[in-house]
Amino acid sequence: MNTLKKISALLILFSFVACAKSAPATSIPAQPLEATSPPAEVNVTSEPTEISAATEVAATEAVVVEEEVIYGELARGHIETITEEIGARWSGTQEESATAQYIEEAFTEMGYEPVVKPFERMGWVDDETETAFKSANVIAVKEGESARVMVVGAHYDSVTDGLGADDNASGVGILLELAERLADVSTPYTIYFVAFGGEEAGLLGSTDYVYSASKDELQNIIGFVNLDSVIAGDYTYVYGNEGKPELRDWALNWASENDIELQTIYDVELNDEDGYGTSDVYEFDNARIPFAYFESTNWTLGDKDGYTQVDPQYGDDGAIIHTEYDTLEYIDETFPGRVDAHLNDVIRIVYALLTEY
Ligand SMILES: [Zn+2]
Repeated sequence: MNTLKKISALLILFSFVACAKSAPATSIPAQPLEATSPPAEVNVTSEPTEISAATEVAATEAVVVEEEVIYGELARGHIETITEEIGARWSGTQEESATAQYIEEAFTEMGYEPVVKPFERMGWVDDETETAFKSANVIAVKEGESARVMVVGAHYDSVTDGLGADDNASGVGILLELAERLADVSTPYTIYFVAFGGEEAGLLGSTDYVYSASKDELQNIIGFVNLDSVIAGDYTYVYGNEGKPELRDWALNWASENDIELQTIYDVELNDEDGYGTSDVYEFDNARIPFAYFESTNWTLGDKDGYTQVDPQYGDDGAIIHTEYDTLEYIDETFPGRVDAHLNDVIRIVYALLTEY
């Protein structure tokens, strides 16, 4: 990490603490972060002494600043680190395991005791070739008032085109911001924050998670929130299972009451033409667990199948994910303000879901 980056990370921290400390008691559930919570910069080369010194300054000076809380700054910092310092992170590679380590360290610095659960599963190298992949899920548990469990998941691996900023450093960034904000907040349900490995090679992490859970553990899960590719597309959507749509519908209602634009596609088709699942909700759905799956895209464009995320003059014919355009730089330059707006919206909704559902 170079000096410039460190300074900007500290500035981000300062402005975040400033906002959180001085937030008025509005409808936004602002949670002041403890001074021990580091900013979105968790890296083996980071220097904790410098961070905590700066944090103290920030905490003291913060009181005078009057600003609305902005969600997403922590998430953006994680997205930057994962994409710019680690880069693309295909299943089973060193970059993928470096990302797992980064997430584990981030959870630890928030005060969690994360568990890294390795697995080896058969996955796809390409459409025809199967091979065994070694990867891991990284899990942090936040005890709630009830022992019943809400699982919040995001996959941290990526394909090798682009840097996987939208798909899916964005989901991981939100997962980590939520974990940090909720670390000391009372929640009705126990929350399992899970970063899945090996999604792009065939939903390996989420499959391993569901397959290795006992029947009782699965029945104890009240819902699954999936965060996948949430910053690049035109609109934010939440999908659910039609048989058990309660989580999706709660999110839709809450967003509408709080003037957040959130759409859905009823009876959404989440499997490909061969019947394979295309996201980590697949095995949770098979286990009959209600889910709310957040994604940003645009179902009115292209083949109207959700694969065209933006106007076809941008990206690769309107696709950002799985292309060279999946970088924070491209998305920020092409759609100024979009990343922060989407992060803010999704974090607000999921925060509400985890504290009020
Ligand atoms: Zn993805």
